[in-house]
Amino acid sequence: MDVLVIGAGTGGMCLAHGLRQAGINVAVYERDRTRSDGLHGYRVGIDPHGSRALKACLPDQLYRTFVATCARAPEHFVFFDEQLRPTLALPLRPPTDDVDSEKSVSRMTLRQVLFTGMQDVIHFDKTFVGYRHQADGRVTAIFADGTTATGDLLVAADGVNSAVRRQYLPHARTEDTGIIAITAKVPMTPRSTALLPTRYFPGIGMVLAPGGKSCILHWMEFPWDRQGRPRNNDELLAQWPGLLFDNTRDYLNWGIAAAADTFPADVTGYGGDDLIRLALRMTPTWSPRLRELFTLGDPSTAFAITIRTSVPIPAWPSTNVTLLGDAIHTMTPGRGVGANTALRDAQRLTDELTLVRDGRKGLVEAVHDYETRMIEYGFQAVRDSREQMTADALVHKPVLGRVALAGMRGYLRVVDRVPALKRRMIDGLYEYRGGQD
Ligand SMILES: Cc1cc2nc3c(=O)[nH]c(=O)nc-3n(C[C@H](O)[C@H](O)[C@H](O)COP(=O)(O)OP(=O)(O)OC[C@H]3O[C@@H](n4cnc5c(N)ncnc54)[C@H](O)[C@@H]3O)c2cc1C
Repeated sequence: MDVLVIGAGTGGMCLAHGLRQAGINVAVYERDRTRSDGLHGYRVGIDPHGSRALKACLPDQLYRTFVATCARAPEHFVFFDEQLRPTLALPLRPPTDDVDSEKSVSRMTLRQVLFTGMQDVIHFDKTFVGYRHQADGRVTAIFADGTTATGDLLVAADGVNSAVRRQYLPHARTEDTGIIAITAKVPMTPRSTALLPTRYFPGIGMVLAPGGKSCILHWMEFPWDRQGRPRNNDELLAQWPGLLFDNTRDYLNWGIAAAADTFPADVTGYGGDDLIRLALRMTPTWSPRLRELFTLGDPSTAFAITIRTSVPIPAWPSTNVTLLGDAIHTMTPGRGVGANTALRDAQRLTDELTLVRDGRKGLVEAVHDYETRMIEYGFQAVRDSREQMTADALVHKPVLGRVALAGMRGYLRVVDRVPALKRRMIDGLYEYRGGQD
């Protein structure tokens, strides 16, 4: 069995590792020209679902390298008002288990981990443009440079604008949530870290402000120094070639989200300096410390993003073309589970294809069984994530928005003061993200 994977992102590469470990032939085709191309700049939270999938698919040593490359674990999840006053502070569980824990990773670092040892599997500079079936039922992928590749199964792992999905399921569309986010990284220095309340950081901050505006804050501290030298003489990291390709250094990350009509119409074309000026214009009454943090953003890391989401569709007849990750279930970052769901897909598809390898299932039957489950949890995650991040929410309405924000803050303050409610909220958070008690 030959498997062709389009896209060397989170889901595609996890699948490729899983298949290679299972002794199944796999080739990945990626449009980026080199392994360090692309703006893969933001923080991704890997939850226990994601960690379990990585643990199942990656060779043992590489999984340990993945754990070794994670940023320092956040100790609190705190809601603030726009004056940086806490309304609810949730203590997070310390990462005592390598798998069953929450992890903070740099997207670029995770990418480099997943590329490790896969030089013979990934083909860079291959932009997929279409596929066709052969007379014997096999499938041929066609690339922009005129080359082709033929296999038994074609897997779309090519992300939100999937070209495979456009051809295979043209009725599966994504739509705008009406939310835009602008974000930048701030180099971690004594000056920048002093702007955040030390009591709650390293942690994750969520500022809820009037006008439906919010701002996420992340503290990303890595186990290597400014020169990229592993701290604490970590042998695994010292041996890991990925560090040569990864320019991630300690940073703080801010990301302001609001309804699209609060942004200039052409914001997605703005350069870094303009985005930072815009962040200041959008937050004139916010805490001066937060505003200073915005000004310290590195313009070369700033970008604006339109938040899109898939529109769930009914199941389709399975064939030897399938999809995983954002290619089929793009979701808002509202629940922080897009990458985790892509990783779950990769693990499930690996398991199903292993049954095909063993002659215990036919290929299309295995694809069908994978898709049945994936459609269920994938589209559920799409719906849940959309609920958390949509311009239809009350907080974005002109008058009702103020009432809704006051109500939300009141509720958060009550939870903060009632230990049983707080515990229930923390348990719910971990349960949703696959954690065990
Ligand atoms: C700001 C932000 C924060 C997020 N935070 C989190 C978080 O905390 N936790 C979480 O779980 N998720 C998070 N996500 C979502 C997460 O990043 C995605 O869901 C995840 O990366 C999807 O993985 P994927 O493998 O499906 O696609 P991707 O990782 O996007 O990979 C797709 C790959 O396909 C390649 N490609 C595209 N088109 C072609 C083509 N035609 N030919 C060949 N190759 C192609 C691309 O170059 C890319 O390498 C966040 C997203 C955003 C935007």
